[in-house]
Amino acid sequence: MSSTSAERPADVERPSRQPLAGQTCLVTGASRGIGRGIACELGRHGATIIVNYRSSEAAAHEVADAITDADTEGTARPIQADVTDPSEVDAMREAVRETVGPIDVLVTNAGITSDRTFADMTREDWHRVLDVSLHGTFNCTKAFYDDLETADDGRLIAISSVVGKQGNVGQANYAAAKSGLFGFTRSLALELAGSGATANCVAPGFTRTEMVEAIPDGIQDDLRDDIPLERFATVNEIAGLVRYLAGERSGYITGEVIDINGGIDL
Ligand code: NAP
Repeated sequence: MSSTSAERPADVERPSRQPLAGQTCLVTGASRGIGRGIACELGRHGATIIVNYRSSEAAAHEVADAITDADTEGTARPIQADVTDPSEVDAMREAVRETVGPIDVLVTNAGITSDRTFADMTREDWHRVLDVSLHGTFNCTKAFYDDLETADDGRLIAISSVVGKQGNVGQANYAAAKSGLFGFTRSLALELAGSGATANCVAPGFTRTEMVEAIPDGIQDDLRDDIPLERFATVNEIAGLVRYLAGERSGYITGEVIDINGGIDL
Protein backbone atom coordinates (compact mmCIF):
# COMPACT_ATOMS: atom_id res chain seq x y z
CA MET A 1 0.00 0.00 0.00
CA SER A 2 1.46 3.40 -0.93
CA SER A 3 1.38 6.20 1.65
CA THR A 4 0.66 9.88 0.90
CA SER A 5 3.07 12.58 2.04
CA ALA A 6 0.54 13.56 4.75
CA GLU A 7 0.89 10.06 6.25
CA ARG A 8 4.66 9.83 5.82
CA PRO A 9 6.68 10.29 9.05
CA ALA A 10 8.82 13.48 9.04
CA ASP A 11 12.11 11.56 8.84
CA VAL A 12 11.15 9.95 5.52
CA GLU A 13 9.36 12.95 4.04
CA ARG A 14 10.48 13.91 0.55
CA PRO A 15 12.03 17.42 0.53
CA SER A 16 10.05 19.88 -1.61
CA ARG A 17 13.22 21.76 -2.67
CA GLN A 18 16.58 20.55 -3.90
CA PRO A 19 19.07 20.06 -1.04
CA LEU A 20 21.33 23.00 -1.95
CA ALA A 21 18.58 25.38 -3.11
CA GLY A 22 19.14 28.81 -1.57
CA GLN A 23 22.88 28.21 -1.11
CA THR A 24 25.42 30.27 -3.05
CA CYS A 25 28.70 28.52 -3.80
CA LEU A 26 31.89 29.94 -5.27
CA VAL A 27 34.16 27.38 -6.94
CA THR A 28 37.61 28.61 -7.99
CA GLY A 29 39.14 27.14 -11.14
CA ALA A 30 35.76 25.87 -12.32
CA SER A 31 36.30 26.19 -16.08
CA ARG A 32 37.47 22.57 -16.41
CA GLY A 33 38.51 19.40 -14.62
CA ILE A 34 37.56 18.81 -11.01
CA GLY A 35 36.37 22.41 -10.48
CA ARG A 36 33.97 22.12 -13.40
CA GLY A 37 32.65 18.81 -12.01
CA ILE A 38 32.14 20.36 -8.55
CA ALA A 39 30.33 23.41 -9.98
CA CYS A 40 28.00 21.20 -12.05
CA GLU A 41 27.31 18.84 -9.15
CA LEU A 42 26.46 21.69 -6.73
CA GLY A 43 24.32 23.34 -9.41
CA ARG A 44 22.54 20.05 -10.12
CA HIS A 45 21.52 20.03 -6.44
CA GLY A 46 19.98 23.47 -6.65
CA ALA A 47 22.74 25.90 -5.63
CA THR A 48 23.61 29.23 -7.21
CA ILE A 49 27.17 28.88 -8.50
CA ILE A 50 29.94 31.37 -9.17
CA VAL A 51 32.16 29.76 -11.80
CA ASN A 52 35.58 31.35 -11.25
CA TYR A 53 38.26 31.06 -13.91
CA ARG A 54 41.55 32.70 -14.79
CA SER A 55 41.83 32.56 -18.58
CA SER A 56 39.40 29.97 -20.04
CA GLU A 57 36.54 32.42 -20.61
CA ALA A 58 34.60 30.40 -23.20
CA ALA A 59 34.84 27.20 -21.15
CA ALA A 60 33.67 28.99 -17.98
CA HIS A 61 30.67 30.47 -19.82
CA GLU A 62 29.84 27.01 -21.14
CA VAL A 63 29.90 25.57 -17.59
CA ALA A 64 27.68 28.38 -16.28
CA ASP A 65 25.21 28.00 -19.19
CA ALA A 66 25.04 24.22 -18.71
CA ILE A 67 24.16 24.69 -15.01
CA THR A 68 21.59 27.43 -15.66
CA ASP A 69 19.97 25.63 -18.61
CA ALA A 70 19.63 22.30 -16.79
CA ASP A 71 16.21 21.39 -15.45
CA THR A 72 17.12 22.17 -11.81
CA GLU A 73 16.88 25.10 -9.41
CA GLY A 74 20.61 25.72 -9.87
CA THR A 75 21.86 28.77 -11.74
CA ALA A 76 25.39 30.02 -12.39
CA ARG A 77 27.45 32.93 -13.60
CA PRO A 78 31.10 33.03 -14.59
CA ILE A 79 33.45 35.54 -12.94
CA GLN A 80 37.07 35.98 -13.99
CA ALA A 81 39.78 36.47 -11.35
CA ASP A 82 43.32 35.26 -10.98
CA VAL A 83 43.29 33.92 -7.42
CA THR A 84 46.97 34.80 -6.97
CA ASP A 85 46.13 38.51 -7.26
CA PRO A 86 44.40 39.93 -4.14
CA SER A 87 43.01 42.92 -6.04
CA GLU A 88 41.36 40.65 -8.64
CA VAL A 89 39.92 38.49 -5.84
CA ASP A 90 38.56 41.58 -4.08
CA ALA A 91 37.00 42.74 -7.37
CA MET A 92 35.43 39.29 -7.72
CA ARG A 93 33.96 39.65 -4.23
CA GLU A 94 32.42 42.99 -5.18
CA ALA A 95 30.98 41.49 -8.39
CA VAL A 96 29.56 38.54 -6.42
CA ARG A 97 28.02 40.88 -3.81
CA GLU A 98 26.39 43.02 -6.49
CA THR A 99 24.94 40.11 -8.42
CA VAL A 100 24.05 37.31 -6.00
CA GLY A 101 24.91 38.64 -2.51
CA PRO A 102 26.97 36.82 0.13
CA ILE A 103 28.18 33.27 -0.43
CA ASP A 104 27.61 30.25 1.82
CA VAL A 105 30.18 27.84 0.39
CA LEU A 106 33.73 28.52 -0.80
CA VAL A 107 35.52 25.75 -2.68
CA THR A 108 39.18 26.66 -3.29
CA ASN A 109 39.98 24.31 -6.14
CA ALA A 110 42.28 26.29 -8.46
CA GLY A 111 45.67 24.63 -8.63
CA ILE A 112 48.57 24.05 -10.99
CA THR A 113 51.67 21.89 -11.17
CA SER A 114 55.18 22.79 -12.28
CA ASP A 115 57.03 19.52 -11.79
CA ARG A 116 60.81 19.25 -11.52
CA THR A 117 63.06 17.29 -9.20
CA PHE A 118 64.37 19.53 -6.44
CA ALA A 119 67.87 19.87 -7.89
CA ASP A 120 66.37 21.52 -10.97
CA MET A 121 63.46 23.32 -9.32
CA THR A 122 63.69 27.10 -9.71
CA ARG A 123 62.37 29.67 -7.29
CA GLU A 124 59.82 30.54 -9.98
CA ASP A 125 58.56 26.91 -10.09
CA TRP A 126 58.25 27.01 -6.31
CA HIS A 127 56.43 30.33 -6.08
CA ARG A 128 54.11 29.73 -9.06
CA VAL A 129 52.64 26.57 -7.53
CA LEU A 130 52.37 27.92 -3.97
CA ASP A 131 50.85 31.14 -5.30
CA VAL A 132 47.87 29.41 -6.88
CA SER A 133 46.99 26.65 -4.39
CA LEU A 134 48.07 28.11 -1.07
CA HIS A 135 48.13 31.88 -1.49
CA GLY A 136 45.07 31.67 -3.76
CA THR A 137 43.21 29.88 -0.97
CA PHE A 138 44.37 32.56 1.48
CA ASN A 139 43.27 35.39 -0.84
CA CYS A 140 39.81 33.91 -1.45
CA THR A 141 39.22 32.95 2.19
CA LYS A 142 40.30 36.45 3.26
CA ALA A 143 37.87 38.03 0.79
CA PHE A 144 34.89 35.82 1.72
CA TYR A 145 35.59 35.13 5.40
CA ASP A 146 32.81 37.42 6.65
CA ASP A 147 30.31 35.69 4.36
CA LEU A 148 31.28 32.24 5.69
CA GLU A 149 31.10 33.45 9.28
CA THR A 150 27.63 34.95 8.91
CA ALA A 151 26.11 32.22 6.70
CA ASP A 152 23.71 29.77 8.37
CA ASP A 153 25.81 26.82 7.17
CA GLY A 154 29.12 28.35 6.07
CA ARG A 155 31.49 25.90 4.37
CA LEU A 156 35.14 26.26 3.42
CA ILE A 157 36.33 23.32 1.32
CA ALA A 158 39.93 23.32 0.08
CA ILE A 159 40.94 20.89 -2.65
CA SER A 160 44.26 19.43 -1.58
CA SER A 161 45.88 16.21 -2.85
CA VAL A 162 47.18 12.81 -1.78
CA VAL A 163 50.56 14.30 -2.72
CA GLY A 164 50.24 16.66 0.25
CA LYS A 165 50.34 13.58 2.51
CA GLN A 166 52.76 11.34 0.67
CA GLY A 167 55.05 13.76 -1.15
CA ASN A 168 56.13 12.86 -4.69
CA VAL A 169 59.30 12.91 -6.74
CA GLY A 170 59.35 16.13 -8.78
CA GLN A 171 56.57 17.75 -6.74
CA ALA A 172 58.20 19.32 -3.67
CA ASN A 173 56.45 22.60 -4.54
CA TYR A 174 53.04 20.98 -5.10
CA ALA A 175 53.34 18.77 -1.98
CA ALA A 176 54.27 21.80 0.15
CA ALA A 177 51.30 23.78 -1.20
CA LYS A 178 48.87 20.92 -0.71
CA SER A 179 49.99 19.95 2.80
CA GLY A 180 49.97 23.65 3.71
CA LEU A 181 46.22 23.50 3.12
CA PHE A 182 45.86 20.86 5.87
CA GLY A 183 47.14 23.22 8.57
CA PHE A 184 45.28 26.14 7.05
CA THR A 185 41.87 24.48 7.10
CA ARG A 186 42.39 22.98 10.56
CA SER A 187 43.15 26.45 11.92
CA LEU A 188 40.20 27.97 10.10
CA ALA A 189 37.98 25.17 11.46
CA LEU A 190 38.88 26.31 14.98
CA GLU A 191 38.44 30.00 14.21
CA LEU A 192 35.11 29.53 12.40
CA ALA A 193 33.66 27.00 14.85
CA GLY A 194 31.91 29.60 17.01
CA SER A 195 29.85 30.67 13.99
CA GLY A 196 28.83 27.09 13.10
CA ALA A 197 30.76 27.21 9.82
CA THR A 198 33.07 24.31 8.95
CA ALA A 199 36.40 24.06 7.14
CA ASN A 200 37.72 20.87 5.58
CA CYS A 201 40.22 19.62 3.02
CA VAL A 202 39.47 17.06 0.34
CA ALA A 203 42.58 15.14 -0.70
CA PRO A 204 41.96 13.37 -4.03
CA GLY A 205 44.25 10.80 -5.52
CA PHE A 206 44.90 10.80 -9.25
CA THR A 207 41.77 11.92 -11.08
CA ARG A 208 41.00 11.86 -14.80
CA THR A 209 41.54 15.50 -15.84
CA GLU A 210 43.88 17.39 -18.17
CA MET A 211 46.36 17.58 -15.27
CA VAL A 212 46.67 13.78 -15.21
CA GLU A 213 46.27 13.25 -18.94
CA ALA A 214 49.43 15.36 -19.39
CA ILE A 215 51.42 12.59 -17.62
CA PRO A 216 53.07 10.20 -20.15
CA ASP A 217 51.13 6.93 -20.62
CA GLY A 218 53.87 4.68 -19.18
CA ILE A 219 54.01 6.72 -15.97
CA GLN A 220 50.19 6.70 -15.77
CA ASP A 221 50.33 2.88 -15.89
CA ASP A 222 52.92 2.82 -13.07
CA LEU A 223 50.75 5.16 -10.98
CA ARG A 224 47.68 2.99 -11.55
CA ASP A 225 49.61 -0.11 -10.43
CA ASP A 226 50.02 1.47 -6.97
CA ILE A 227 46.27 2.02 -6.49
CA PRO A 228 44.41 -0.87 -4.82
CA LEU A 229 41.23 -0.02 -6.77
CA GLU A 230 43.38 -0.19 -9.96
CA ARG A 231 41.99 2.98 -11.57
CA PHE A 232 42.04 6.75 -11.33
CA ALA A 233 39.14 8.61 -9.73
CA THR A 234 36.44 10.18 -11.85
CA VAL A 235 35.65 13.87 -11.50
CA ASN A 236 32.11 12.94 -10.46
CA GLU A 237 33.40 10.92 -7.51
CA ILE A 238 35.36 13.92 -6.19
CA ALA A 239 32.42 16.25 -6.89
CA GLY A 240 30.01 13.97 -4.99
CA LEU A 241 32.17 14.17 -1.86
CA VAL A 242 32.37 17.96 -2.11
CA ARG A 243 28.59 18.13 -2.54
CA TYR A 244 28.17 16.14 0.67
CA LEU A 245 30.55 18.48 2.53
CA ALA A 246 28.68 21.51 1.15
CA GLY A 247 25.32 20.26 2.41
CA GLU A 248 23.61 20.48 5.79
CA ARG A 249 24.21 16.79 6.63
CA SER A 250 27.98 17.40 6.96
CA GLY A 251 27.60 20.12 9.58
CA TYR A 252 29.44 18.14 12.31
CA ILE A 253 32.54 17.43 10.19
CA THR A 254 35.20 20.08 10.57
CA GLY A 255 38.99 20.34 10.52
CA GLU A 256 39.28 17.08 8.59
CA VAL A 257 41.40 16.00 5.66
CA ILE A 258 39.16 13.62 3.76
CA ASP A 259 40.98 11.17 1.50
CA ILE A 260 39.45 9.99 -1.75
CA ASN A 261 42.24 8.04 -3.40
CA GLY A 262 41.27 4.45 -4.23
CA GLY A 263 43.11 3.14 -1.17
CA ILE A 264 46.54 4.35 -2.32
CA ASP A 265 47.82 4.79 1.24
CA LEU A 266 46.60 1.44 2.61
P1 NAP B 1 42.99 21.42 -14.32
O1 NAP B 1 42.17 20.53 -15.18
O2 NAP B 1 44.36 21.79 -14.76
O3 NAP B 1 42.14 22.77 -14.06
C1 NAP B 1 42.69 23.78 -13.28
C2 NAP B 1 41.66 24.88 -13.07
O4 NAP B 1 42.27 25.87 -12.22
C3 NAP B 1 41.26 25.58 -14.35
O5 NAP B 1 39.88 25.89 -14.27
C4 NAP B 1 42.08 26.87 -14.32
O6 NAP B 1 41.44 27.98 -14.95
C5 NAP B 1 42.13 27.13 -12.84
N1 NAP B 1 43.24 28.00 -12.46
C6 NAP B 1 44.57 27.78 -12.59
N2 NAP B 1 45.26 28.82 -12.13
C7 NAP B 1 44.34 29.73 -11.70
C8 NAP B 1 44.42 31.01 -11.11
N3 NAP B 1 45.61 31.60 -10.89
N4 NAP B 1 43.28 31.66 -10.80
C9 NAP B 1 42.05 31.08 -11.03
N5 NAP B 1 41.92 29.87 -11.59
C10 NAP B 1 43.04 29.21 -11.91
O7 NAP B 1 43.17 20.83 -12.86
P2 NAP B 1 42.40 19.63 -12.11
O8 NAP B 1 43.11 18.38 -12.41
O9 NAP B 1 40.95 19.75 -12.34
O10 NAP B 1 42.73 19.99 -10.59
C11 NAP B 1 41.86 20.80 -9.80
C12 NAP B 1 42.37 20.81 -8.37
O11 NAP B 1 42.41 19.47 -7.88
C13 NAP B 1 43.78 21.36 -8.23
O12 NAP B 1 43.89 22.08 -7.03
C14 NAP B 1 44.63 20.11 -8.16
O13 NAP B 1 45.83 20.34 -7.48
C15 NAP B 1 43.70 19.18 -7.39
N6 NAP B 1 43.98 17.75 -7.58
C16 NAP B 1 43.96 17.23 -8.84
C17 NAP B 1 44.23 15.87 -8.99
C18 NAP B 1 44.21 15.20 -10.33
O14 NAP B 1 44.64 14.04 -10.40
N7 NAP B 1 43.71 15.83 -11.37
C19 NAP B 1 44.52 15.09 -7.87
C20 NAP B 1 44.54 15.67 -6.61
C21 NAP B 1 44.25 17.01 -6.48
P3 NAP B 1 41.81 28.45 -16.45
O15 NAP B 1 41.42 27.30 -17.32
O16 NAP B 1 40.98 29.64 -16.69
O17 NAP B 1 43.29 28.70 -16.45
